[in-house]
Amino acid sequence: MAVIRDVMPAFDLLQPSSIVDAQKLLEQHGADAWVMAGGLDSFDWLKDRIKKPKVVVDLSGIEELKGIHATSEGIEIGAMTTLTEIVNHPFIKQHYSLLAQSAELVASPQIRNQGTIGGNVSQDARCWYYRAGWPCYRAGGNICYADTPEGRNREHAILHADRCVAVNPSDTAPALIALDAKFVMRTAKGERVWDAEDYFIGPEIDITRLHILQPGDLLTSVRIPSSWANAQFYFEKVRDRNVWDFALLNVASAMVVSHGSIDRIRIAVNGAAARPLRLKTVEDAVRGKPLNAVTAEMAGKLAVQGAVPLQFNAYKVPLMRNLVKRAIGGVVEATWTS
Ligand SMILES: Cc1cc2nc3c(=O)[nH]c(=O)nc-3n(C[C@H](O)[C@H](O)[C@H](O)COP(=O)(O)OP(=O)(O)OC[C@H]3O[C@@H](n4cnc5c(N)ncnc54)[C@H](O)[C@@H]3O)c2cc1C
Ligand code: SF4
Repeated sequence: MAVIRDVMPAFDLLQPSSIVDAQKLLEQHGADAWVMAGGLDSFDWLKDRIKKPKVVVDLSGIEELKGIHATSEGIEIGAMTTLTEIVNHPFIKQHYSLLAQSAELVASPQIRNQGTIGGNVSQDARCWYYRAGWPCYRAGGNICYADTPEGRNREHAILHADRCVAVNPSDTAPALIALDAKFVMRTAKGERVWDAEDYFIGPEIDITRLHILQPGDLLTSVRIPSSWANAQFYFEKVRDRNVWDFALLNVASAMVVSHGSIDRIRIAVNGAAARPLRLKTVEDAVRGKPLNAVTAEMAGKLAVQGAVPLQFNAYKVPLMRNLVKRAIGGVVEATWTS
């Protein structure tokens, strides 16, 4: 199906200047409203005439949603804070370099200048059938075009697929999961705070969304507790080209090592499933074990248990095994600085 490149369908542009006003507008317009952050994902949908909201609620005038603040428990990042601000923030660079590194590997400088942390974790799937407007499961239809013998599925899922085999494209999501971040939302029922890993959902819960936000909901901030500040971090993103490109797979880990053994650990992978996966089985298996090549090898093998590759993405199984291995064994040597 050809993508239609015509003018965008008309919509009412609403530009609230406070969270309260934004929430009122979103509640009033429900499923007719589209939340606009940096617009990088949003404008693709609108310009391709695939999503046709009646109302667009632009968050760019809401100062309360911007900025990075120290709190008694850690830091709070407003949902409209740009990725560039996160990359350059001295406190984040010093204490949560995992997040800064993941944000720095997103796309290009121009995209990071405009793209927000709220938009990065809430962006939609990049499966090209879906993005081109094909009427697949995720678009409300009855078929997956990627999961057929002829389907182009090199970038798709190897774990937890259920009808749809698309993956979550965010680079910051696994880093936030590894840092035990909390996502703060305003909903019709008041403020809700979710663990980062529970913000993301797979097709078994809702095949049309990658996250838990419902029409009317607003993501307001991301809180990062101090529990993992200054831990040993590892982030690696593998992509086809070493310029702006989405991850084929990425991995994020946070570890506290004492006397040569893994005391505490979080590890998450994205690009393998419809949601970023926190690898709890791996965490449990390596906790208390010596930080060495044997432990790293065991972690890599455990991580890919149950993987079911598609026609063109079998390479993701050894890739994920090696990324997890390096996320544990490589932490000691990791020397990323910015
Ligand atoms: C060419 C290109 C390359 C890219 N490469 C990468 C990459 O390598 N890695 C990567 O991680 N990302 C990549 N991205 C994604 C990009 O980095 C942005 O993070 C992402 O598109 C969305 O951010 P945004 O602020 O522009 O949000 P928008 O596009 O405005 O919003 C994205 C979605 O989130 C919803 N949303 C946004 N903010 C809120 C909120 N506060 N409350 C409720 N809903 C909200 C919107 O309704 C929309 O559905 C790329 C994008 C492009 C266009
Ligand atoms: S992988 Fe998902 S988004 Fe892509 S065609 Fe299949 S159902 Fe649609």
